[in-house]
Amino acid sequence: MDYQPLSGREFPRFSAIKTFFRLPVATPQDDFDVAFLGIPFDGGVSYRPGARFAPSRIRESSSLGRGFHWGRGEQLFSKLKCADIGDCPTVPIDLAQTYSKIESFIYQLVSKQKKFIAAGGDHSITLPILRALKKKYGVPLNLIHFDAHLDTYPAAWNCEYHHGSFLRHAIEEGLVNPLQTLQIGIRGPLASKEDLDFIQKHKITCWTMDDVRADSIKSIVRQLPHFTSGPTYLSFDIDGLDPAYAPGTGTPVPGGLTTYEVQQILRSLKVSHLVGADVVEVCPAYDHSDITSLVAVDVMFEILGILSQ
Ligand code: MN
Ligand code: MN
Repeated sequence: MDYQPLSGREFPRFSAIKTFFRLPVATPQDDFDVAFLGIPFDGGVSYRPGARFAPSRIRESSSLGRGFHWGRGEQLFSKLKCADIGDCPTVPIDLAQTYSKIESFIYQLVSKQKKFIAAGGDHSITLPILRALKKKYGVPLNLIHFDAHLDTYPAAWNCEYHHGSFLRHAIEEGLVNPLQTLQIGIRGPLASKEDLDFIQKHKITCWTMDDVRADSIKSIVRQLPHFTSGPTYLSFDIDGLDPAYAPGTGTPVPGGLTTYEVQQILRSLKVSHLVGADVVEVCPAYDHSDITSLVAVDVMFEILGILSQ
């Protein structure tokens, strides 16, 4: 199969059936390198729901995406064979059933040596993805985690699994190596000082907004740790960005990253074995002029740049 995006010269970008980056549709068995997929589930949300509508909205916005990465000087869709494999099946009213569907969907993909970039969904979808990756690679993963929130929070309304607890479970289940976990953009809000106990106990590296703004962005990105050994996963919660740059999200927190800072950080990350990534918490109903879904497209393209390293 020819894995090139549909030409905008032949079919203008407002036309044609919407796939991620206008890529061809494929099945996990086909011979591509990187899958784009949607995971339309928001049953783990504690505040504003609607992230289930993000994959179709991001597909639509990605019609404006191009293949040449200016900063890297490379045509990414020529370097890597990419395809849209559609959406992972979900059960909108049952988190447990959805978790087992996500885990088996991702596992069947990675067991065929595929890499992937998933569009959520709320942040609860990341835990079953990590379960599948641990099963495949057999070791705890390195994790790069963009977010306003720590996502190590306790059970809510007696429910252990929700969008604010994926990282706590991932560490407690041994899916992620806390010593090789980097959080970026963190700024709370915290219910109490005890909310910080978990990351301190497990020695997670947490870059708050104050850390990111301590010096110029050029000097800050030089301090990024390199992920040179072991499989690495990247989870990008869109609320790591400031609500001015990403208003369409379920739990916005003022004082966050700018789109430019995100681009600079993603272009500077050195990751030798990125095995997959997600972009979560886009909530189209609260978006304006597609600002947030366009940022999600941009983040997915930058992640593809890391995969092409
Ligand atoms: Mn968040
Ligand atoms: Mn999150």
